[in-house]
Amino acid sequence: MLVLVINCGSSSVKYDVIETEERRDICRGIVERIGAVTSILKHEPAGKERIKETKVINDHGEALQEILNFLLSDEAGVLSSPSDIKAVGHRVVHGGEMFKDSVLIDDVVKDAIKQAFDLAPLHNPPNLKGIQAAQERLPDIPHVAVFDTAFHHSLPPHAYLYGIPNRLYRRHKIRKYGFHGTSHYYVSRQYYKLTDKPRKDTKVITCHLGNGASIAAIKGGESIDTSMGFTPLSGMVMGTRSGDLDPSILFYIMEKEEIQLNSLHSMLNRHSGLLGLSGYASDMRDLIEEARNGDRRCQQAIDVFCYTIQKYIGSYIAALNGCDAILLTAGIGENSPVIRQKSLENLDGLGIEIDSEKNENLTRGKLEKISSDTSKTEIYVVPTNEELVIAIDAAKIASAKGQSPWV
Ligand code: ADP
Repeated sequence: MLVLVINCGSSSVKYDVIETEERRDICRGIVERIGAVTSILKHEPAGKERIKETKVINDHGEALQEILNFLLSDEAGVLSSPSDIKAVGHRVVHGGEMFKDSVLIDDVVKDAIKQAFDLAPLHNPPNLKGIQAAQERLPDIPHVAVFDTAFHHSLPPHAYLYGIPNRLYRRHKIRKYGFHGTSHYYVSRQYYKLTDKPRKDTKVITCHLGNGASIAAIKGGESIDTSMGFTPLSGMVMGTRSGDLDPSILFYIMEKEEIQLNSLHSMLNRHSGLLGLSGYASDMRDLIEEARNGDRRCQQAIDVFCYTIQKYIGSYIAALNGCDAILLTAGIGENSPVIRQKSLENLDGLGIEIDSEKNENLTRGKLEKISSDTSKTEIYVVPTNEELVIAIDAAKIASAKGQSPWV
């Protein structure tokens, strides 16, 4: 089945067309800088020449129209008619407490996504815009919402409750939700294909290390804890997000720097993390290069990042009472031997031994084992594929008319 996968950010729309039976990417692309003076369109059909254009694109609706034009065009197109697409899968970041699974989108679902605007102000509004724009242009095709939070719905209360008055949970649903669910789900399932152990007995730790980063503890196939919380701001130090802080720091900053809530929000989301620590860049490649050139703050940013990974691994081994495998994924996890080495090299006391040579010499884009033969816990680099999870979910929901395929 051909599925169009859509991932809308505040100023971008990423898209993929995926053939779900063959699990094949037919085409992918992105429209960036929507609403800016000029927007950039990149369209990459498999086996055909890539296209890059600049154009004025004012909103998500226009972006969607451009994407459909590309998909149907003579030279770079991959569809003969819009009806070739049998389902549209939309990434929705926050499903609140309501969505434990992916769902067929109707007015009630759209309303619930809207109700979660306060929980994910940077993500849910553009996600809904994308849904509306796609439904207007593809009205006869089932649209499915796949939530980043859904996979973490199995968290037990002792993992998702915060130490604040319980009425705040009851009134406002303030609790840990967790994100990157499709990625943690996908990489854990790739591991299950490798092991003979019955799934119910498996214990794995998945580390999604990209611009946004989160770690999850997965027992018997279900997420039992994860580093991101009420919003994707918490947990690991990330590209531009602070990760966990002592909450008192927030009051202190507001007082000392004389700033208001919205500036604080922006500081913690856009100017903190690796960027804030280094004062140089949020991109790990740049930091590694500058640290090699002797920049102390870039090195410190890397040290904080890797130390945070170590601490999460240690605490999740305790939460799981053991660990069969650590799975590393996303931009940094898949591509940076330096960060993998630094994050995992001093954990031999926990039975975790990385093999430096395997770590250095693995083939990019492939699932590979990088632990030593004597390591009690295996370590794998597992390329993630969130779009495929969204496409398969959308295909199953569309053909099952609303039934959840999550297993
Ligand atoms: P997101 O999807 O959250 O935007 P990605 O999963 O694409 O993020 O990861 C982006 C991060 O991966 C950036 O910090 C980038 O520097 C890092 N990255 C990509 N390739 C490499 C590499 N070869 N070495 C180190 N870091 C890398």
